[in-house]
Amino acid sequence: MAPITTAIINIGSLVTNDPSLPGAGPLGVIQDAAVVIDGDRIAWVGPTSKAPATDNAVDAEGRAGLPGFVDSHSHLVFAGDRTEEFNARMSGRSYSAGGIRTTVAATRAATDAELEANLRRHLGEALRQGTTTLETKSGYGLSVHDEARALRIAAAHTDEVTYLGAHVVAPEFADDPDGYVALVTGEMLDACAPHARWVDVFCERGAFDGDQARTVLEAGIAKGLHARVHANQLGHGPGVRLAVELGAASADHCTHLTDADVDALASGDTVATLLPGAEFSTRAPWPDARRLLDAGATVALSTDCNPGSSFTSSVPFCIALAVRDMGMTPDEAVRAATAGGAAALRRTDVGRVAPGARADLVLLDAPSHIHLAYRPGVPLVSAVWRRGVREV
Ligand SMILES: [Zn+2]
Repeated sequence: MAPITTAIINIGSLVTNDPSLPGAGPLGVIQDAAVVIDGDRIAWVGPTSKAPATDNAVDAEGRAGLPGFVDSHSHLVFAGDRTEEFNARMSGRSYSAGGIRTTVAATRAATDAELEANLRRHLGEALRQGTTTLETKSGYGLSVHDEARALRIAAAHTDEVTYLGAHVVAPEFADDPDGYVALVTGEMLDACAPHARWVDVFCERGAFDGDQARTVLEAGIAKGLHARVHANQLGHGPGVRLAVELGAASADHCTHLTDADVDALASGDTVATLLPGAEFSTRAPWPDARRLLDAGATVALSTDCNPGSSFTSSVPFCIALAVRDMGMTPDEAVRAATAGGAAALRRTDVGRVAPGARADLVLLDAPSHIHLAYRPGVPLVSAVWRRGVREV
């Protein structure tokens, strides 16, 4: 039996991210649009008046449409809660990377079923807010057994799984960080690589220095993983330039950048992924998206959803922050949260609405995508298709 075809018609304003459409601007916006879904793929995009006949039709009644969000940075395999740490920080104490160890203890103590239930809960939360592709990581196990099980659990729910054994030095290795790097690049990597697509490292004072980060990334690359880097979140450092040098898909955070860092991002194909939920939740200075865009870098916007420094699964919230405080236009922020996220995951099948792309589509209870920033905190997502299936 042929797959069922469905036309979503009367989309008031549709972001396609196809800049080749005549007169549609960089976001490829089509007015009065229709999208035809055939199985899990998009089969046709154009004006409603020219839509081909289909098995089913859904009337969007003038709502805005856009590609499902691509959240290329989250940490969702965890247990426990850091409410007290957040409360303390909002009462005047600053954030340090050591807080991760609180979640490590809770995650190690949790059962597989508890970790999976928590992951599913947060994936559902993200989906209801329009996220149809989501990367997630290990990094709260920090032992061979606990890192491998985190990745195994993540891989059952998403294709975009990242090995982050080098999140912080495991407590057992507090006096022997190089010994921990040897574990991360040896036995732990052997156990984890079969479940992951990416290798990542937190290159930061208090976590791993430039030499250690290089060792971790090169070992992962030699095992067939692709690199991404937590870089330059809390201060200046070698992370961004290392990411570009090693051909990483993304340098994530990019909050503290020198001119040389910006030049490196603009000249290479490493995406600058900005995570304003972290700056919001730690009262830290915002990353300067305007500077990166003006230099010619590709920018992605993601949530960094994790229980410590950014406990939001809402891409629309991050879009609003980026527009209000990071110098992005609404168009740039929406593009960064869709096509930008796809670029940060080296994906061409998501982050756009075009024939052949995965049928991941969001409708907003609003006349245009600009309302994502114009109406912050309002639950505008009214329908979500993922792989051609209506999920919301
Ligand atoms: Zn992160």
